[in-house]
Amino acid sequence: MGNFLSIFVVVLFTSVIFSGCKSNSSNSETTAISSTQIYFHQMKTLVVDVYYEPGAEPYEGKPTTNGNYYWNIFEDNLKALFSGRTVVISVPKELSSMNSISAQNKTTWSALDVVDLGNKFQKTSSDSSEIHFSIFFLKGNALGSDGQTNVNTIGFSVTGTRFIAMFKDVIKGTGSLLVPKYVEQSTLVHEMGHALGLVNNGLTLTSSHHDSSHGAHCTNTNCVMYYLNEGKSDAINFVNQIISSGSTLMFDEACLNDAKSF
Ligand SMILES: [Zn+2]
Ligand SMILES: [Zn+2]
Repeated sequence: MGNFLSIFVVVLFTSVIFSGCKSNSSNSETTAISSTQIYFHQMKTLVVDVYYEPGAEPYEGKPTTNGNYYWNIFEDNLKALFSGRTVVISVPKELSSMNSISAQNKTTWSALDVVDLGNKFQKTSSDSSEIHFSIFFLKGNALGSDGQTNVNTIGFSVTGTRFIAMFKDVIKGTGSLLVPKYVEQSTLVHEMGHALGLVNNGLTLTSSHHDSSHGAHCTNTNCVMYYLNEGKSDAINFVNQIISSGSTLMFDEACLNDAKSF
C-alpha cells in the first residue's frame, strides 16, 4: 500500500506537468482510474464552480425567452453520463451564480499555470461525497507542452485535476448568433468528459471507440469526444450539426455506454 501511494503521487505530479487534453501521457491513466472510481462510485454531488476574468465572461441566459438556458446543454450531457446513478449535479446557469476574478494579464496558459490558478480558487466541501470541479474562463491562449501557443484550442482539462481552462477569445472567434454559445457548451462537455475519465482514461472501454493515436478521444466524428471537436474549425461544424439536429445530447452511445457500465 505504501508503495502504491508513492507511485500515485509521482504519477500525479508528472501528469500535471506534461498533460493537457492534447497530450495525455500514458502515465496519466493510473491517476485517472482512481479519480474516476470516486466520481462514478462515491460521489453523490457534483458541483461545477465557474470563474471568469473581465472580458472573458461566459455566455448566460437563454436563446429565446421560453427556451432553456445555454448552460442546460452542459448540465444535460453531464446528467446523461451519470444516468442510472444518484448523483446530484449542480451547474450555474447565469453570471450571477458564477465567480468573477481579477484580470490575470496573461497571454498564454500552460497546464501548470491553470493548476496554480485552480489551487488558488478551488472550493472544497467538508462532505467527501461532494466534489467540486473548477472551470476558468480566461483571456489569452493555451500554451502546449511543446511550448507553442495554440490559437485554435478552445479549452483544456488538466489531467489528474478538477481544473478546466476555457479560452474566451477563441470561443468568440467561432462566429455569431448561436454558434459561439454552442461551441462554449460543447467544449465544456468535451473537457468534463476528459476530467471524468473519457475516453479509456479511467472509464473502461465497452466497445472499440478509443482513438488512441490522438490521446483520450473517441473515433466517432459525430461524438463530442472526437479529438478535433475541441479545436476551432471542427467545433463549428460539430455545433452546426447539433443545432440543426434539435437534440443537444453530444456524447455518442459508445461513450455513454462506458460511463453507464463502469
Ligand atoms: Zn480532448
Ligand atoms: Zn464517443
